Amino acid sequence: MSAFKINIIDTPSTPSCRPETGKTWKIAVIDDEESMHQATTLALRNISVMGYPLSFLHAYSGEEGKALLQQHPDTAVVLLDVVMEKEDAGLVLANIIRNELNNKTTQIVLRTGQPGYAPEEAIIERFEINDYKTKNELTRNKLFSTICTAIRSYKNLISIEKSRDGLRKIIESSADQFQERSLARFSEGVLEQINVLFDIHSEGIFCVSTRPMNPPKELAKIYYQSKSEENESIVVAASQKYLNAFGKKLEQLPLDDASLSVIHQSLKESRNIIRGNDVALYLSTPSQWRAVIYIHSDKEDAINNIDPELLSVFIQNASLGLENTKYISQLLDAAFVDEVTGLASRLGFVDNYAPSLLEKEGALTLSVVDIDDFHQITESLGFDFGSKVLRAFANVLKQSLPSNSVIARLHSDSFAIATPIDEPALLDTLQSIQETTLSLQEVGSIRLGVSAGLHKIVLNEDDNCIEKALCRAEMALKQAKIQRRGETLTFDSLMEKNCNERLLIINKLRQDLTDEKLYMMFQPKVCIHDGSIIGAEALVRWHHQELGHVSPAVFVPIAEAAGLSFELDMFVFRSVCQIMAENPEFPEIAVNISPLSFNRRELIPFLNQMLATYQIDKKRISLEITEGCMVQGEGSRKKMAELHTQQWCLHLDDFGSGYSSFGYLLELPVSVIKIDRIFTWELSKCERADRLLGGMVNMLSGMGKKVLIEGLETEEQVNAAREAGLDMAQGYYFYKPLLIGDLMSAFNEKKYHHTQPVINHASVSQSN
Ligand code: C2E
Ligand code: MG
Ligand code: MG
Repeated sequence: MSAFKINIIDTPSTPSCRPETGKTWKIAVIDDEESMHQATTLALRNISVMGYPLSFLHAYSGEEGKALLQQHPDTAVVLLDVVMEKEDAGLVLANIIRNELNNKTTQIVLRTGQPGYAPEEAIIERFEINDYKTKNELTRNKLFSTICTAIRSYKNLISIEKSRDGLRKIIESSADQFQERSLARFSEGVLEQINVLFDIHSEGIFCVSTRPMNPPKELAKIYYQSKSEENESIVVAASQKYLNAFGKKLEQLPLDDASLSVIHQSLKESRNIIRGNDVALYLSTPSQWRAVIYIHSDKEDAINNIDPELLSVFIQNASLGLENTKYISQLLDAAFVDEVTGLASRLGFVDNYAPSLLEKEGALTLSVVDIDDFHQITESLGFDFGSKVLRAFANVLKQSLPSNSVIARLHSDSFAIATPIDEPALLDTLQSIQETTLSLQEVGSIRLGVSAGLHKIVLNEDDNCIEKALCRAEMALKQAKIQRRGETLTFDSLMEKNCNERLLIINKLRQDLTDEKLYMMFQPKVCIHDGSIIGAEALVRWHHQELGHVSPAVFVPIAEAAGLSFELDMFVFRSVCQIMAENPEFPEIAVNISPLSFNRRELIPFLNQMLATYQIDKKRISLEITEGCMVQGEGSRKKMAELHTQQWCLHLDDFGSGYSSFGYLLELPVSVIKIDRIFTWELSKCERADRLLGGMVNMLSGMGKKVLIEGLETEEQVNAAREAGLDMAQGYYFYKPLLIGDLMSAFNEKKYHHTQPVINHASVSQSN
């Protein structure tokens, strides 16, 4: 037969089947008869299978065959003689190919001179022999069809293997894709992955088209900047060659018409388009968000070699990844933005916006601004009104600061500012903010008290600087709240020192509280007429190994700030229950309950459980609360009502020292009012104070409240208190706080000798 050329399969629409220049199907002839080599090459000359010609390799023994295949693992077909140097040399080589060279793709066609040498079926199966022919069967036609079948199988195996490898890469890359938060980074990643996965060198553009239902902020910003209408495509990532395409619309892309038309067609027909060197891959996500990846390779062959099935898996995966970026960025937006005011959240400020601004500006002035007594606004006017105030205040901040400043709401009524303006300029701005009045529909205009802390920050001067600077500004704010409420203080290192000391105290206090190393003292409450002890107030004491005696006026507020007050108060309550159980004749002890403990859900169950454990009559323990306990408005009022219903005896401590109106306090279900020491100080010094006290006692008694005055230190004060109509008192004039043993001695002494109080501070062991 004359030379001819056959193309078995040629499907130009499937790019992977197009010939690659220089590629051939390798056919190895392994036979000890030279004539078989010649006959084979002659029979198969000028043949091409699926677009590629054949090339021949030759070996004349099993040994040689092994070396040949070792050298050419990409051999498509081996025509292998069974009998060579040994009777089973071919079978041995087949075994070596599969198991030693680990080649599972090369197709093995066994040839034998006589039918009698045919290998058994079991052997054919074991060595994965693909075909078996007797030599005389190998006419040109038969040989040709055997080779075609073998090459087709080989090609399928190779593409399965490639796909497997590709799928592995897709799976690996999707782990990265799904973690990618930003749309731009995700898209860049996809462009890179295309090159790695399909082993090509393409340049590309990632266009996101048709708006998603809820675009992530990042994308909305690009839309906004490009002033694009609905359904336009915007480039969100581009490789080196197309870098200046970023952010552009489709029509503005620096592409020739042919390339543009590929993208347009892909979008119009919602499918992948491969034309020449250009590919437009079409992506659509479950929420109807569409994108086109345009890639261009200088080598047409490379593009044509992309496996279509692998490509489709890749696209599906990338579509899901794209959708994912939307959700992740929406979640991040939610975490970075404060819902109430629309300003940045603390996380957004610290992790994102302020660091970017610092990077850009090199130095920033940072401030933390806090509305004084904001809780009173929400308490009296409600939560929704409080939110309106916060929004109005956020607007004041926005209007007062330069537009390139970052403003955040950190929590509750605390705001942060990062601005490039210098310290004096920010101080001026803060002062004007402190003087601003807000106009609100419901109440007209209100003026807020605003305190602020300030700190300067310079890029790279401090590790983790925004967080640290914010803490410092917060320290300065705390100091301002204590020393100069309504003003701004700038951070100095002394504040940090104090703060560190506080931290040290907190740690030691926590430890000693756990080890129950704190102890109790009791200040008697007396009848002002005969000095008899009618009860006592439990006052906690802390003596630390290294710190020595720490005053409760210092550590109680620290415990509150460190979230330890509930543990502290419950320690006191348990100790008092124990002491009351051991001293059944003592009438009553009052326990201070701090506002934070008061508002804990576990409070009432704990109190009841302790009473039950120690079998104490509820009348013997009263609870001293302050107006600070009412910070949670309705919730606190309910708690009080519940305690009242359960017949707990509530005393209102420090009456007159706070900001709430008397009317409001008197509505509370408390049986005893303890008048604060600040009233006592003025007693007997000025007539007006005496009269005021008299009026107050009259009014309170008229309302059925019992009244006790705290802090009496002098005889004059005692007389003035008596004159004002008071019956009960507490104060150093009578007793300083006593240890339980001294309290009981004093109590028993007074019980048996109803004399006027004789105060001898030195005669009892006291410590305050
Ligand atoms: P407080 O509840 O108003 O307690 C009265 C404070 O006034 C006590 O100070 C007491 O020693 C002091 N005091 C009593 N008589 C006089 C006097 O004639 N003159 C002067 N100058 N002071 C007098 P202390 O024990 O230092 O406690 C201070 C504050 O610490 C208490 O004020 C209370 O708010 C808190 N505190 C003390 N113990 C506890 C406790 O066990 N639990 C809680 N939550 N807070 C406590
Ligand atoms: Mg008290
Ligand atoms: Mg008090």
